[in-house]
Amino acid sequence: MLIDCHTHIWDVNKHLGQEVISDFIRVWGGSPKSLRATPEIHEEAMSKVDKAIVLAFKSLFLKINVPNEYVAKYVNKFPEKLIGFCCIDPNQHDAPSELKKCVQDLHMRGLKISPVYQNFDPNSDKAIKLFDLAQELKIPVLIHQATTFIRRAPLKHAYPSLLDNIAANFSDLKIILAHLGHPWEDEAIVLVRKHPNVYADISALTSRPFRLYHKLMSCIEYGIADKILFGSDFPFSTPEKAINDLLKLNEIVKKTSLPKIPTSIIKNIIYENSVKLFGKL
Ligand SMILES: [Zn+2]
Repeated sequence: MLIDCHTHIWDVNKHLGQEVISDFIRVWGGSPKSLRATPEIHEEAMSKVDKAIVLAFKSLFLKINVPNEYVAKYVNKFPEKLIGFCCIDPNQHDAPSELKKCVQDLHMRGLKISPVYQNFDPNSDKAIKLFDLAQELKIPVLIHQATTFIRRAPLKHAYPSLLDNIAANFSDLKIILAHLGHPWEDEAIVLVRKHPNVYADISALTSRPFRLYHKLMSCIEYGIADKILFGSDFPFSTPEKAINDLLKLNEIVKKTSLPKIPTSIIKNIIYENSVKLFGKL
């Protein structure tokens, strides 16, 4: 089964805010058009996957709001295929009740948070309250514990190792580190090996083959390749392109004596590893 565990939808101008758009153009070039990810565009891009996780996105600090209701309305049209993850900002005063509402009333099946985008310390009381509630509700948490191109977003909250205590103290909470903690993949890999409840997705890395080759080799050496999950980070890539990138990853070492990543490991990342975790969500 092919599950894309990291995809976005949004209305660029309405939901992302001017700060995100102008920093995106400053760093990546191009135009806001390349960020387009309406439900219609998403539906088309996901035509080849069996299931996809669709993420809401909210940051009071950066004035981003891809509402939970917007994502729920879309995913609930295709409940067999799409899995909605709500996004709660721990800085909002009603964070716990909003999370309960999203799970119980909007049928969302996971939580997405990001200390660097939302400007909070992942070990603060307000964050711990949310981790506690997510564990009680038995929903997984996808955490963007990785860098960003947004100038004002505080890197002090971004490092994967900040989640070490959280992963230990919430041992029944399934934690997925987005983007394998890029560019601190080594910290993320340490956490995935150390904690049975921590996983990672490789979204945003499929377009960085040298880096991905190197980091997947580390995962193999640490014996954790079966906890690495496929994600496209749509609209930044598509499942089709991300899979193609993965399947040709070994080309990077073609004319060298470096080892190849076994095809079975790459196939498991694409088709197997997510199924146990998300297949029944
Ligand atoms: Zn993403």
